[in-house]
Amino acid sequence: MRSGGKMASAVLRYVSPEGALGESKMVGVLHTEGSTPLSYRRKANMDDIPPGASRTNPAFDVAKARRAAGDSRRPGEQCRAEPAQFQPEVNRKRCEGKSECVVVCPYGVFEVRTIDEGEYRALPLMIRLKIRVHGKQTAYTPRADACHACGLCVVACPERAITLVRHESP
Ligand code: SF4
Ligand code: SF4
Repeated sequence: MRSGGKMASAVLRYVSPEGALGESKMVGVLHTEGSTPLSYRRKANMDDIPPGASRTNPAFDVAKARRAAGDSRRPGEQCRAEPAQFQPEVNRKRCEGKSECVVVCPYGVFEVRTIDEGEYRALPLMIRLKIRVHGKQTAYTPRADACHACGLCVVACPERAITLVRHESP
C-alpha cells in the first residue's frame, strides 16, 4: 500500500524519430513506501513517443503524435504494455475514416480502407448513409497484435471512435 508521494523531476534524454538528440524534463509524483520508491507517475509528457516510430509506421506524424501524448485524457499504459495485451476497437458507427489513428500510432496498427460489404450491409440505414458520405472509408486494425497501449489513437480520434480494450487471459 502506498504511504506517500512527493513532487520530483528528472531529465530524459532521447533520440527523436528523425534521429535528432533531445531531452525533456519529466515532472511527476514519486510514490514511496517507507524509503522505497514504488512508481514514478508522470504528468503528460510531450516527448513520450518511442524512437523509431517513423520507420515502423511510414505514415507517422510526429507533431500530431506529440499533441496526442500531451492530452490529459490519454488512457493506456504509455507504451509499457507487452504487445497484444491490449487492442484498439473501432466503433464503426462513429468512424469517419479520416486517418488520425493511422498517423499517430507508433506501431502501425491501423489502416483506413473501404468497409467490408457484409459489415456495411449489417449497419442501420442512417449509419450506412453517413459512411457513404465519407466514401465508405473506415479504420481497421490489421496489426493489432503490435499494440503497446500508448493510448495516442484514442485521444487523437476526432470522432471518439476508438476504445482500448485489455485482453483477458483465458
Ligand atoms: S477511428 Fe477515428 S481517427 Fe481512425 S479513421 Fe476512424 S474516425 Fe478517423
Ligand atoms: S494504443 Fe493505439 S496508437 Fe497506441 S500502439 Fe495501440 S493502436 Fe497504436
